[in-house]
Amino acid sequence: MRRDAITALHSRAMIDRRVVLASALYLGGLGLTPAAFASARLRPAVFRRDPFLLGVASGYPHPNGMVLWTRLIADLLAPDGGVGPDDIEVGFEIALDPGFRQTVQTGLTRAEAIFAHSVHLEVRGLEPGRSYYYRFRAGEHRSAVGRTWTCPAAGQPQLPLRIGVASCQHYEQGYYHAYRHMLETGVDLIAHLGDYIYEGNTAEPVRRHDRGECQSLADYRLRYAWYRSDPTLREAHAACPWVLTHDDHEVDNDYASEQAENPGEQPGFVARRAAAYQAYYEHMPLPRDSLLAGGGLQLYRSQTVGDLLGLHILDTRQYRSPQPCPTPPRQGGSRVFVDTCPTWNDAARSMLGETQERWLQQQLGQSRARWNLLAQSVVFSLVDEDPGPRQLHWNDSWAGYPAARLRLLEAVRDSGVANPVILGGDIHAFIAADQRLEANDGNSPIIASELVTTSISSGPPPQKVIDAYNRDTLNVHHADGSHRGYLWLQLSQERLEARMIGFDSVREPTAVARTLANLSIEADRRGLQKL
Ligand code: FE
Ligand code: CA
Repeated sequence: MRRDAITALHSRAMIDRRVVLASALYLGGLGLTPAAFASARLRPAVFRRDPFLLGVASGYPHPNGMVLWTRLIADLLAPDGGVGPDDIEVGFEIALDPGFRQTVQTGLTRAEAIFAHSVHLEVRGLEPGRSYYYRFRAGEHRSAVGRTWTCPAAGQPQLPLRIGVASCQHYEQGYYHAYRHMLETGVDLIAHLGDYIYEGNTAEPVRRHDRGECQSLADYRLRYAWYRSDPTLREAHAACPWVLTHDDHEVDNDYASEQAENPGEQPGFVARRAAAYQAYYEHMPLPRDSLLAGGGLQLYRSQTVGDLLGLHILDTRQYRSPQPCPTPPRQGGSRVFVDTCPTWNDAARSMLGETQERWLQQQLGQSRARWNLLAQSVVFSLVDEDPGPRQLHWNDSWAGYPAARLRLLEAVRDSGVANPVILGGDIHAFIAADQRLEANDGNSPIIASELVTTSISSGPPPQKVIDAYNRDTLNVHHADGSHRGYLWLQLSQERLEARMIGFDSVREPTAVARTLANLSIEADRRGLQKL
């Protein structure tokens, strides 16, 4: 790059840095002006041990910036993370090269003790459509270097975009070979669809983390820190930006809105959920406005990448109606014969909640992107699990919310949105299936297709469930529950390519990856093709 261009970038960065600082400090809440902040007393950043144990991350890129994340923690098990009770000043550097010779922004931000000394730096003022490197400094310590990028500006030419889709990564049930493979193959973006942590333990662990079911903010914080102590997971966060949504295990198995899994867990559940949401925010490269006052988490949002991708990230857990007709004494997920459940088709029952449904409708109507991916957590396909004449469904997935499911399909159809594809997780299996307005009617039009990613490490589903998917030869192109792994996507103007990358086992420290299926969707043509 020419020197005058670098100088121009520098001077623009200086202006934007002030904006970054002003937005990054909760100035209103602290009652500080920028000048007062400069002189505010912060704990002198002196650490005996590396405070960057959890690495760095980036997320939610836009044409001029992205979110950069880190958390200061020098001791996983210490209540204060081994960095003390005060806010800490953290320096950041953003450069064009991994050696930081061409620095484009530097500045200071603040790791706030109330948010477990996490940093969510909302960078602005970068150039569209290029790669950047970043790192943090606290005291004498420097973080690892992360690589990230800005989205192309509208109309800017764009290379095909490679996305790694992940879900369900129980630390105790296996190693993160999927992320290792993403790092080796190269992905531009990682989309995580939920079950980033699990709140409990497992019977026959491959490796152990702390014991017990998470209840308090301290419990959830420790669980996230433990997960992020996995070096492969840390590397994956440093390698490219992520976008995320949650599912149930970030809080409690099968919870629905403010309803806990079990009646016995109900007292105090709203506070428990708020603690879990806060810990999630503290450990993810989420924009600062994601953590809401009053215990909510703003996860649903639209992310565009140039003209190529509109990624509509949904929250299927926080606003949903309770699962219909659970088997007592459970409150959460059950297999339900539809003919036994009077409320099954109740139109008032919602998966997204009214506000998010309306928002999604707007996003679909407005999107000008070539591809529109609905990134969400649970299986959308409607497949009868009973081989006989009765209909059997898992009531925690979209199947248990049939009216809401139909509303979504109709919204996609009515919006005329280009090339809609639903991404899902939760079931710990690969599924590729077309979605018709009337699932079992071959004359009913295909509105969208669904690609469900298997689990990174969490155990397999019952084979009879996968057998049911494979019986649906009208819509299902591939279903496989016997591999852990991830979904690799490549989007171009012409087509979406999907590879199901799997491992026979994740119970050993190394494993060989296999491509289990290759699928594609041609732009402007509905329906999956298996190659
Ligand atoms: Fe899971
Ligand atoms: Ca539970």
